[in-house]
Amino acid sequence: MPSTFTHEFNAPAFKAKVSFNTGLFINGQFVDGSDNTTIDVINPTNGKVITSVSEGTPKDVDLAVDAAHAAFDTTWGLHTPGAQRSRLMSKLVALMEKNADELAALEALDNGKTFNWARNIDVAGSIDCIRYYAGWADKITGQVQETTEDKLTYSRHEPIGVVGQIIPWNFPLLMMAWKIGPALACGNTVVLKPSEFTPLTAIRMCHLIKEAGFPPGVVNVLTGYGNTTGNAISSHMRIEKVAFTGSTLVGRKIMEAAARSNLKNVTLELGGKSPNIIFDDADIEQAVNWAVFGIFWNHGQTCTAGSRIFVQEGIYDEFFKRFMEKTQSLKIGDPFAPDTFQGPQVSEIQFNRIMSYIESGKAAGAKVEIGGERHGSEGYFIKPTIFTNVDPSMKIVQEEIFGPVCVLIKFKDEEDVIKQANDTLYGLAAAVFTQDLNRALNTAHRLKAGTAWINCVNSFNSNVPFGGFKQSGIGRECGDYALTNYTAVKAVHVNLGHKM
Ligand code: NDP
Repeated sequence: MPSTFTHEFNAPAFKAKVSFNTGLFINGQFVDGSDNTTIDVINPTNGKVITSVSEGTPKDVDLAVDAAHAAFDTTWGLHTPGAQRSRLMSKLVALMEKNADELAALEALDNGKTFNWARNIDVAGSIDCIRYYAGWADKITGQVQETTEDKLTYSRHEPIGVVGQIIPWNFPLLMMAWKIGPALACGNTVVLKPSEFTPLTAIRMCHLIKEAGFPPGVVNVLTGYGNTTGNAISSHMRIEKVAFTGSTLVGRKIMEAAARSNLKNVTLELGGKSPNIIFDDADIEQAVNWAVFGIFWNHGQTCTAGSRIFVQEGIYDEFFKRFMEKTQSLKIGDPFAPDTFQGPQVSEIQFNRIMSYIESGKAAGAKVEIGGERHGSEGYFIKPTIFTNVDPSMKIVQEEIFGPVCVLIKFKDEEDVIKQANDTLYGLAAAVFTQDLNRALNTAHRLKAGTAWINCVNSFNSNVPFGGFKQSGIGRECGDYALTNYTAVKAVHVNLGHKM
């Protein structure tokens, strides 16, 4: 019998006792893993165990795939009209709205992000995303192709079947919504693995999915480790598609596993090292505010984090002064305190990884202008860190740190900065700050990135495509672009009188 997580939240913004079963969610039931093992979930604020959740194994992936196939062949897929899928998704939206504060509190406890951000961005964005795709469920259409008068030819956009989805820990609920939203709208069934660092909101969502009345087996969620459960999903012979969000390193493994097994369809949302370009004519106060948000929001654990900040030489000194002041003013601490901007990094592993990048920057001769060390004595807090005096060969300039660490680089002109900004193997996002419309558009168009922001950063919408150029990914999430990831196109030729 899987264990129950019980927790009394006593924060100014949320006071309540929550309690729910933490088993694997297979075929509409909460069950133990086949090996009866569990995974401890750690509170990043103090390093203590919050609870434990069932550990999935490859055997459990098989069971989940069986359930997902059975549902696809009977109660979902082509057996449920889009309008009915839409109704169920709308019920889920209503339940998410009803439990929004609880979901935000779980995210803050488990991930360390602030309750306020979790509520206003993660939970609000997840609700918005499921609502958006609920609207699509009865609007998945093919086309009629004109061929000859004695033939009718049309295409159907059919669901692919059982899809595997593997998500990271930085936006646990939002990544789940981005994945299950389009998959369910198109009629697929799902086997999803959250990160074992942050499984709580995904498990809570399973309770809401059950309460909403989704048929058993439509959504299956297995908490488990990447190299076992994750690998079993990406290499499974009866999973037709895998969608992954995470690091470029693991993305490559997913693609290899897909190729080695059944050549399943693959979409990847991977890492980034996004440039944030500030020209001389930018509104400097706004540029500073956005640059701080760009890198330090979500503790730098954002795939689009503006971690390379390029500032034109004419305003460099002024920008530097104000950027330092603003960074110094950020409050670090308890994710549930109303004025906290930055909580802890998600895990000890991530904390150590970020600190080793900071040490490598120092050793390579970069200058730490602020931060560069842990904050406090318990938990995984790191002070916001600004490096200057960097050169393009340094690891801190080239590699994704995924923490509150940025490099500040002075540039001369447009040509110079575009060359430097594009000098990365990533291409997820980029931002440009200027009042000159021509320069803004010209720069945005020449940057090699899947998203280009002008005078803003880290801005997302459910109906706007998101994804990477180069090694930042394959395919697009959000908007109607994501629907193409979850449909298989079938051409039907009907003979209306052509005799042989
Ligand atoms: P990882 O790539 O380490 O892990 C992502 C997920 O994959 C986790 O659930 C992980 O499980 C699982 N996994 C690990 N190894 C395997 C494997 N061999 N086969 C199948 N699954 C596996 O990323 P993180 O969780 O550390 O997240 C941070 C990374 O994600 C950053 O690089 C970031 O840029 C990227 N990211 C990209 C986004 C985008 O949209 N482009 C959005 C959010 C994050 P386990 O936890 O057990 O390792």
